[in-house]
Amino acid sequence: MARADALEKLRETLINRRRALVRSATGELNQLQGRSAKTGDLLDAVAESLQSELNSQLLEAESRELTAIDDALERLDQGEFGKCEACDRAIPLTRLRAVPYAKECIECHRASVKRRSHPAATINRVFDSYQRAQ
Ligand SMILES: [Zn+2]
Repeated sequence: MARADALEKLRETLINRRRALVRSATGELNQLQGRSAKTGDLLDAVAESLQSELNSQLLEAESRELTAIDDALERLDQGEFGKCEACDRAIPLTRLRAVPYAKECIECHRASVKRRSHPAATINRVFDSYQRAQ
């Protein structure tokens, strides 16, 4: 399959992933909003607040990933998708299939992770665990 076709197929992957993220984020948001009305003993309250903390962290990671996906879809429309932002070389399809919203080839990505321990690390962890769940 030509690279252009393979890239276009990834659009579908991105859109499906986006849909799943929005669905799950909506669920967490509802849980966060629904919790305050309940009353219970101290342990319940602690458990609830821990759960809320987890939910809001998850929500944060999900919203970062959503941004990355929207970004990737925009690059697809502009014909910029699949090109490393740092070195301008084509990002290998194997990497794009693993991380469809990758902006950098693996070499540049590793270099940038070293430079700054950055939020993409969280996104990649979320995405990895998502892929393992498939
Ligand atoms: Zn690169």
